[in-house]
Amino acid sequence: AVSAVELAQHFLTRIEAANALNAFLEVNPEATLAAATQADVSIARGHAGPLTGIPIAHKDVFVTRDWKSTAGSNMLAQYVSPFDATVVERLAHAGMVCVGKTNMDEFAMGSSTENSFFGLTQNPWDLAAVPGGSSGGSAAAVAARLVSAATGSDTGGSIRQPAAFTGVTGIKPTYGRVSRYGMIAFASSLDQAGPIAVSAADCALLLNALAGSDPRDSTSLAQETEDFTRYLGQSWNTQANPSQATPTGQTQERPNLKGLRIGLPKEYFSAGLAAEVRSALETALKVYESLGATLIEISLPKTELSIPVYYVLASAEASSNLSRFDGVRYGHRAAHYRDLADLYQKTRTEGFGAEVKRRILVGAYVLSHGYYDAYYVQAQKIRRLIAQDFQQGFAQCDVMMGPVSPTVAWNLGEKTDDPLHMYLADIYTLSISLAGLPGMSIPCGFGQNAHDSRPVGLQIIGNYFSEARMLQIAHAFQ
Ligand code: GLN
Repeated sequence: AVSAVELAQHFLTRIEAANALNAFLEVNPEATLAAATQADVSIARGHAGPLTGIPIAHKDVFVTRDWKSTAGSNMLAQYVSPFDATVVERLAHAGMVCVGKTNMDEFAMGSSTENSFFGLTQNPWDLAAVPGGSSGGSAAAVAARLVSAATGSDTGGSIRQPAAFTGVTGIKPTYGRVSRYGMIAFASSLDQAGPIAVSAADCALLLNALAGSDPRDSTSLAQETEDFTRYLGQSWNTQANPSQATPTGQTQERPNLKGLRIGLPKEYFSAGLAAEVRSALETALKVYESLGATLIEISLPKTELSIPVYYVLASAEASSNLSRFDGVRYGHRAAHYRDLADLYQKTRTEGFGAEVKRRILVGAYVLSHGYYDAYYVQAQKIRRLIAQDFQQGFAQCDVMMGPVSPTVAWNLGEKTDDPLHMYLADIYTLSISLAGLPGMSIPCGFGQNAHDSRPVGLQIIGNYFSEARMLQIAHAFQ
């Protein structure tokens, strides 16, 4: 057997060799090896669980005591938190060994990881392509096998879309399933943490450790402890049976999914979808049909409105959350200033990048007197209608499937001059976040021609709290 220390050393060597990808913002071999040594002690004492000694990387949006927590921003370039985020704490408690902090779009605002103050991250499949974002560092690290799994956060697609672009598996749980305590806030009513890993089975194990209510996050939900591996390898109609589940191994035969109704939102397969993505999805859907599932066309008529609604609400919440970065309490502070107003202005001018400033301006605008009713309140109303669309959809099916992104990963630099163009690429992930539903991405093929090394993700959308079933469905494909 391999010891936790040997495993950590293996991944640290790989991380160093892949330095050019810029997936990691900080590695600290000393801290990693100390944690691995601890894990080996637990193993020797017979206290090991399924995650003990397994390496994990954390998106730099999660605060950590032993590592810097920058959120990809100059504002927090030197920031070290006095406490660990609940996500970090829970995985450490499960015995996982942190190997580093991963790159991300500044304050998780972006879809390509090009908005990081610390430089872009490359897609390991094709170095000319973006890895997606905002959790691009985590996704690239898992895809390049620099770590076994990583944490991500998803406000409007930031776990699902980078997972899709890098050919790995990621799940954004139901809003409130995982604690936001210690996750640097972007848009609090949308932010949700989740795992990025090489398989649905691994995501299930990680979610076992991550999920749970937390008195330190008032929006975390009271919930029964759940074993997210309990349906893995089971047929759709079989009751969960943990003793028969095969959580980590591949099942020999694909389970029977007879009785499973898969809803295909027709708006997700309309003209905006690239032919190469459509064709990979169709092949995957045929596999599900061959397993016994039925495909049903459904409709989510408000899909297009999700872009303006999300960018109004997320920016509004961001402008409020980011007001804490004032140069006084923590983080960057301008060196020279005349008075308090000047301190705020200089600190924020220096500390925030262009995309973050854009969101703060939009957010302050839509919340301002005279525009609040026209934009913010209106967007809140449509948000509710979007959630209702999904409930009508789920009356006809058990789960929905569709693309994660209209295209495969685009080229580095391709959308950096055109923020609106970048926003439009979020069309298939935003409404799930607005509704607070769980969504996941699993790899289902590659693009074509010049893109034949760029992965395609299949999105699985479940109803509230149906993560165990989504993981079952994903696992059946893998
Ligand atoms: N791309 C979206 C945005 O820029 C979503 C990002 C996220 O989920 N954090 O806001």
